[in-house]
Amino acid sequence: MRLVLFDIDGTLLREGIAPKIAFARALRETYATAGPVGTFRFAGMTDPECVTEIMREAGVADDLILQRREECLRRYVAYLEEEMPNHDGAHLYPGVRELLERLNKLDDVLVGLLTGNVLRGAQMKLRRWNLEPYFRFGAFGDDHENRAVLASIALQKAHALSGREFIGSDTTVIGDTPKDIACARAIGARAVAVATGLVSRAELAAAVPDVLLDSFENHEAALRAIFP
Ligand SMILES: [Mg+2]
Repeated sequence: MRLVLFDIDGTLLREGIAPKIAFARALRETYATAGPVGTFRFAGMTDPECVTEIMREAGVADDLILQRREECLRRYVAYLEEEMPNHDGAHLYPGVRELLERLNKLDDVLVGLLTGNVLRGAQMKLRRWNLEPYFRFGAFGDDHENRAVLASIALQKAHALSGREFIGSDTTVIGDTPKDIACARAIGARAVAVATGLVSRAELAAAVPDVLLDSFENHEAALRAIFP
């Protein structure tokens, strides 16, 4: 059985400006500053990591950041729910639905999420496109702040769900940043990179994924990339 783990932002979809606005509101309300949120590069980072990094850059002390981080992320999801309907620019990438449809029809494949989004944020982003039913489980930003650790958590959750023990060589991790590739390597998994997000093709190639795709538009090619 093969375990296939997808990142969300930049890989399946683009959410537009709403998450950044929700983050700014949550940070300001929690820490009295939004720091450099406007120019911060969120790609590949977990939500808790984003809070920590942005507030460090704003000069907030580490113990205070940690102490209020959960509260900040709770506010973030509440504001995300409020902001999502107010902004255009959300986008489902070409071929994504067809690829997920195909994968879900295959025997011997378990499809899950491996994302830095906190659970509720992930659910909202997927629900907009009715993608939730394609994923049997997931590892999320509220499971751990470190993406590499999230990969091991995903293996454990896949085991708990299926009763089958997965190792890295049974697993494909799919994402749009060098951090997704590093996260695949952390568990010895196959790394498939897709250049639909904010990271350039050249930057992704430099991180040496097993396969680098321009998009999932050709879902035959995407399927071949996922299976070694
Ligand atoms: Mg991503």
